[in-house]
Amino acid sequence: MKKIEHIGIAVKDLETSNHLFASIFGKEHYKIEEVISEGVKTSFFKSGPNKIELLQATKPGSAIAKFIEKKGEGIHHIAFAVDDIKAEIKRLKKEGFTVLNTIPKKGADNKLVAFLHPKSTNGVLIELCQEVS
Ligand code: ZN
Repeated sequence: MKKIEHIGIAVKDLETSNHLFASIFGKEHYKIEEVISEGVKTSFFKSGPNKIELLQATKPGSAIAKFIEKKGEGIHHIAFAVDDIKAEIKRLKKEGFTVLNTIPKKGADNKLVAFLHPKSTNGVLIELCQEVS
């Protein structure tokens, strides 16, 4: 694994939170993207080398909708950049971690992503992401 690629924050209302985070960072989001297959709308902020992804559910029953229901708004996941997501999935499975999707799926921001189940990672949902060229 390389650096932290971004931190994902679950929000109830993307528009409201876009204003909030624009105030925090002193600049607007640089991208809004909907991932229809995941039932989520995302926006991205950059502050220096750091990236924040805001996630709002677009349909009931989606991962973010369930998260908000259970825990309310807040940090949802930490994403790590990897060079070879398939190799990392294989390695982490061998280490005994529960990989939620063993076949990488298309995420926001031009990435292939896979998640580690928080039950096997001290309650932290970890996203692996590989940039797709
Ligand atoms: Zn993410």
